[in-house]
Amino acid sequence: MFSYRHAFHAGNHADVLKHAILIHTLDYFNRKDAPYWVVDTHAGAGLYSLDSDWAAKTSEFADGIGRLWEAPDLPPILADYVARIRAYNTNGRLKRYPGSPWLALDAMRPSDRLRLFEMHPTEIDTLVSNLEHQGRTAQRQTTIYGDDGFEGVKALLPPPTRRGMVLIDPSYEDKNDYRRTLITVKECIKRFATGTIAVWYPLVQRREAGEMARHLENLKVKSWLHATLTVKKAAIDGYGLHGSGMFLINPPWTLHDALKPAMPYLARTLGQDERAGFTLQFRENPFPAPKKHSD
Ligand code: SAM
Repeated sequence: MFSYRHAFHAGNHADVLKHAILIHTLDYFNRKDAPYWVVDTHAGAGLYSLDSDWAAKTSEFADGIGRLWEAPDLPPILADYVARIRAYNTNGRLKRYPGSPWLALDAMRPSDRLRLFEMHPTEIDTLVSNLEHQGRTAQRQTTIYGDDGFEGVKALLPPPTRRGMVLIDPSYEDKNDYRRTLITVKECIKRFATGTIAVWYPLVQRREAGEMARHLENLKVKSWLHATLTVKKAAIDGYGLHGSGMFLINPPWTLHDALKPAMPYLARTLGQDERAGFTLQFRENPFPAPKKHSD
């Protein structure tokens, strides 16, 4: 069940899309003083060494963050993202890559709270030990649960501050993850209708991936944003990731404009063949005025 290790994939094209959006969203939250919560249902190990045997084996980061590392003309949302990764690589060489928990902590203020779920026994140990090397403030504001994030998130919503974001980022190795993600999104909306909910998913040759995206777009929510990045043509054998998508409910209103120049840039820069491309949609749903009751 737990064969997935994010260390093989850290910094790849999918992380670029997901983490650039995560950073932009939290920077947007920081515009107001009111504290917020971030719940990361699938946290991973938190921090990855890019010269580990694992990362070196696939070198996926080379075709992700690696292609943006020296780029002089990054659109602002990508420049912000690369700047955050540079802070982990102060000698200018790309050696370390932060996962979503660390990128969240970098953005968060001391009054904000981070809640992390991770189920892989080794990843939890690494996550806990990585957190021990963070400052006291980070330790105080973070709680790590070795539980199922799909289930565990429900008890945390709504956050006491009534502001926040849920990141749902499973590996989808188990095809039930598509169904469970959709159920979890619905549970999050029920408990925290004003929260930002971000779902990452892979573009793979699987019926469930397309179906989940269609279901997400049909949810009755105030607004959503859906971005997909394709980097290459789908493999003939149906295996492998040819791109990924991010679906956000209640996205920051700045995100669509920020992604307009960034998505074509990513398709051009991270694209590996002629099938590289992107989609970007934003929808605001009008809601009917509440019915008036007459006694
Ligand atoms: N969010 C991380 C990031 O962006 O840096 C990457 C997460 S990785 C794609 C998915 C993680 O979820 C893996 O570390 C895996 O062990 C963990 N996992 C798998 N099933 C889980 C579950 N039901 N609840 C919590 N974590 C789970």
